[in-house]
Amino acid sequence: MRITDIRATPVTVPLEAPLRHANGSHWGRFVRTIVEIETDCGLVGLGEMGGGGESAVAAFEGLKPLLLGRDPSRIEELRFAISNPTASLYNNRTQVMAAIEFACLDLLGKKWGVPVSEILGGRLRDRVAFASYLFFRYPHPKDGTGEVRTVEQLVAEAERLKAAYGFTSHKLKGGVFAPEHELACYRAVAEALDGDSFRFDPNGVWSAEQAMWFGQQIADVRNDYFEDPVFGLHGMRRVREKVSMPLATNTVVVNFEQLSANALCTAVDVILLDTTFWGGIRPCLKAAGVCETFQLGVAVHSSGELGIQLATMLHLGAVLPNLSFAADAHYHHLTDDVIVGGKMTYEDGAIAVPTAPGLGVELDRDKLAEYHELYLRLGTYPYDQDPLRPGWTPLIPNDRWADPDDARVPNVPL
Ligand SMILES: [Mg+2]
Repeated sequence: MRITDIRATPVTVPLEAPLRHANGSHWGRFVRTIVEIETDCGLVGLGEMGGGGESAVAAFEGLKPLLLGRDPSRIEELRFAISNPTASLYNNRTQVMAAIEFACLDLLGKKWGVPVSEILGGRLRDRVAFASYLFFRYPHPKDGTGEVRTVEQLVAEAERLKAAYGFTSHKLKGGVFAPEHELACYRAVAEALDGDSFRFDPNGVWSAEQAMWFGQQIADVRNDYFEDPVFGLHGMRRVREKVSMPLATNTVVVNFEQLSANALCTAVDVILLDTTFWGGIRPCLKAAGVCETFQLGVAVHSSGELGIQLATMLHLGAVLPNLSFAADAHYHHLTDDVIVGGKMTYEDGAIAVPTAPGLGVELDRDKLAEYHELYLRLGTYPYDQDPLRPGWTPLIPNDRWADPDDARVPNVPL
């Protein structure tokens, strides 16, 4: 089998409402890039990457001289061709490599008639549990629905998600409002869904002292972990000395150098593995092996996903013996998907691991065309900007919080 072509298609898929985070907002839609690798035997492998637009299309187009004619089963060879560690100092292609790895694994699975999980060692579980991933949300610009800003709105949203999807673990994305408001929100959700477990993630915008204070205020909650309360391994180590729950990260342990530093001088208890940030499913598996050796927890991180990336997260989750916690996914905030059959479904808070050959998902060509058109119409959005606070930027540690009494509706195109 030889690679004959690679194609990248940016798509825009609407969200139920704009998602707010510490650095800005997802403005009511996700922009993703769908990657297709064609081969001389007629099989097509699927990959996916965050963001999109001309730069992503150009990045994949620019790799054609490296890719065309290669055997997609030589993934390790491709890793050194595309993202070897020293060349990456000048040209970081880790996320591009991830999308190519997904597509190559998809091709191998299709060629051999086995799901990707079987290439990776075989499923240990048939379903992967997910956390609810609660966001503060702006009202939808078109109809004003979906807002999550107050304690009452957040509790109602958590209860709605639990009823709709069956989640028993709940993650609140914070770092938007002052810690006092977010503490009231987190505690109210924990009280309303007593018996479930909870996790909080302010995206590293607090001082170590703020993080210690917050961690001490939630010590009685059934916390899975406290995620990235500060930015930096040394800050995390300081916080870890003063709080009682495990700390987790998807920001300061995202490669093997950082993982080894954390193993030698531990600052973080739980490593959140992202199939894109780490450069593919296989590097996540290697990292999970290191974590197993050092008895660190692992979970599956979400950097935003459509069905192809979600499939990579499911195959990863299926084969990790040390998957200690429910995975994260933004997926339930989306209104649609680009895969045949529409969005994957949750049952009792979990999604079934695909069992068809390869990643086990197929592109819906009509949906791909529809959401590519939407991308062309709307373009990208600035992830690190808040549509209602033009020019605003957070500090680290931050003190420029959003106002929880501000009920305005952002006027963004959708
Ligand atoms: Mg995080």
